[in-house]
Amino acid sequence: MTAFWTEPDFDEHELVQVVHEHKSGLTAIIAVHSSHLGPGAGGTRFWHYPNPKDGLRDALRLSRGMSYKNAMAGLPMGGGKAVILANDARTKTPEMLAAFGDAVEALGGRYVTAEDVGISEADMVAVAKQTAHVSGLPVEGEGNAGGDPGPFTAMGIYHGIKAAVRHKLGKDSVEGVHVAVQGTGSVGAGVARLLAKDGAKLTLADIHADRAAELARELGGEAVSADAIMSTSCDVFSPNALGAILDEEGIARLDTPIVAGGANNQLARAEHGKVLAERGILYAPDYVINAGGIISVALEYLARRNGTPGDINDVRKRIAQIPERLEEIWLKSEETGVSSDVVADRMAQELIGRG
Ligand code: NAD
Repeated sequence: MTAFWTEPDFDEHELVQVVHEHKSGLTAIIAVHSSHLGPGAGGTRFWHYPNPKDGLRDALRLSRGMSYKNAMAGLPMGGGKAVILANDARTKTPEMLAAFGDAVEALGGRYVTAEDVGISEADMVAVAKQTAHVSGLPVEGEGNAGGDPGPFTAMGIYHGIKAAVRHKLGKDSVEGVHVAVQGTGSVGAGVARLLAKDGAKLTLADIHADRAAELARELGGEAVSADAIMSTSCDVFSPNALGAILDEEGIARLDTPIVAGGANNQLARAEHGKVLAERGILYAPDYVINAGGIISVALEYLARRNGTPGDINDVRKRIAQIPERLEEIWLKSEETGVSSDVVADRMAQELIGRG
């Protein structure tokens, strides 16, 4: 047996629960990193890990990430995350989701769940039959907050890119600004559409090349291969696909003054923030710029707890504050010579009482 709580990734988690339910075959890990600011909030990932240890590591890292993200978004929520360990056949049954919902309910609100990779809105509706500590449910009526967080994440990234362009290039508009978008899924396509409306010049790529090509046709941009996007000469590189793309090799390929996108955990390792800074590249810390989705999810949850629908205008107002936070981080980084990712981490740690 390994004492996993002695490993660095554990990082003083308040709660780590392994859930196993024999009948349904569910195995899940629920992790709450910090409840300093409120209940631990963060989505549930459904993923097949060849080595279950990686599932635990994922839950711990993602949960800590949610503590930082929620704190920096000014939300009254702590950080948590759940991982359902998929079996070799990747079976996901209603019974498993029900058992998972029971486990969330048993925590009495210490953990609030929502969608993440591999978990759909319909899955969350199934979980919601067992527990009230769920968000990201379908929106009931115009003007109400909730539903798929993707478009809200995209909105925050769009505001963040505009702030970066203002800060680094001194331009008040993105008209004619060249943005290279990696990944044209829910978030990347949303970002591209918002930028296109403002007249930005777009280069798009996706491992599903047809997705990028179709969007390029719709928006009047150019599609390039997934291999070429990171070395595209541009004003802004916007990663909206995978994490860990900013390693030595990835950073060396960049030909851009700005990196600003929604993918989680973009820096392969902590020191890569410094490598970006040394190359003079302005970096928007991922969990600050991509908080739009959790802002929507959290406000939906808090409103439902009060028996009212969440107001979409509140969500938009809070998302529009993302640029102020980025600006504060960049200014502090310039004043102190500390890279923007470390500045953000320190601000977040302060906010969750671990400074
Ligand atoms: P998605 O699955 O809808 O889209 C991801 C896209 O990236 C897909 O089209 C996929 O084909 C493409 N892709 C994968 N690998 C690629 C590669 N190497 N090169 C180019 N394209 C590649 O997912 P999403 O919801 O748009 O999320 C995108 C990223 O943003 C993820 O890292 C996710 O964790 C993060 N994120 C999403 C949200 C949200 O609200 N959806 C919130 C915060 C962070």
